[in-house]
Amino acid sequence: MKDMLTGRIVKGVGGNYYVMTEIGEFVCQARGLFRKKGISPIVGDFVEISVIDCAKATGYLQKIMPRKNELVRPKVANIDQVVLVCAVVPQINLDVVDGFLMVCEKQGLDVILCINKVDLDVNKQYLDAGRAYEMAGYEVLYTSAEQSVGLENLRAAMDDKATILAGPSGVGKSSILNALFPQFTLEVGGLSEKIGRGKHTTRHTSLLEVGNGTYVVDSPGFTSFSIAHIDKRQLQYCYREFKPYLDNCYYVDCIHVSEHDCAVKERVGIDIDIGRYERYVHYVLGDRLND
Ligand code: GDP
Ligand code: ZN
Repeated sequence: MKDMLTGRIVKGVGGNYYVMTEIGEFVCQARGLFRKKGISPIVGDFVEISVIDCAKATGYLQKIMPRKNELVRPKVANIDQVVLVCAVVPQINLDVVDGFLMVCEKQGLDVILCINKVDLDVNKQYLDAGRAYEMAGYEVLYTSAEQSVGLENLRAAMDDKATILAGPSGVGKSSILNALFPQFTLEVGGLSEKIGRGKHTTRHTSLLEVGNGTYVVDSPGFTSFSIAHIDKRQLQYCYREFKPYLDNCYYVDCIHVSEHDCAVKERVGIDIDIGRYERYVHYVLGDRLND
């Protein structure tokens, strides 16, 4: 029997950390060492543990591996990708989508855009929005949790990764997870979940292993974002589709709004979507998303 094991923290409750290892889940306590160093273990951490009692599956956390990323709300580390969910009804909130994409881009997180509730728009108007984001370089999936459309593609895109679903309340995140993974049984349209964001919640963020090496973050929500902390001059770097052109503007400090000889503006309507660009200008000029 090995007395040291490697694993991943999948849940943390009241000072106990649940660590998934190759021989099952161990309940571990953190050593005082971490507290002294001001490190707190979080869900998603890759760790080394020493076994106290193998039969009881208990151990001590000994070491936390360096994190490749860390989200603040929900608190979770080493996420491989974000699936950003939006819904075609009442309409796709493009400001919300842009905002999430900027934050993910800033943090170096991979994003898949999932346009859900496609069953509610027989005219498929959502395809216009989808194409704009595809043009920007994002993978876009079209789903209906209700009618099981596009779910296999989404499931396949999650393979061998740790994924978090993001997006506003009501777009269908819980429904999608329930449809993909029956073991979830998340409350759909749940009042208690919605109130639960406040003081009554007892739900903890956890990682669910839904396949070998495939994890999904189960969390009360990754529903909000703020780009307020991103400097206006930095916003341009949060646009994937601007990146190839940023060095080609006449002014080195061009912010691609009213400058002449701007390499970004020259691409608008070609490989930069007009709507995306116009909203970028609004954000930079400061009359949107100033939450
Ligand atoms: P969440 O807040 O993002 O987790 O959204 P929920 O999963 O709770 O879904 C909100 C509401 O949208 C519920 O009434 C669901 O039944 C409904 N819903 C979710 N997905 C779909 C879908 O693909 N099509 C339709 N028509 N309704 C859906
Ligand atoms: Zn420019």
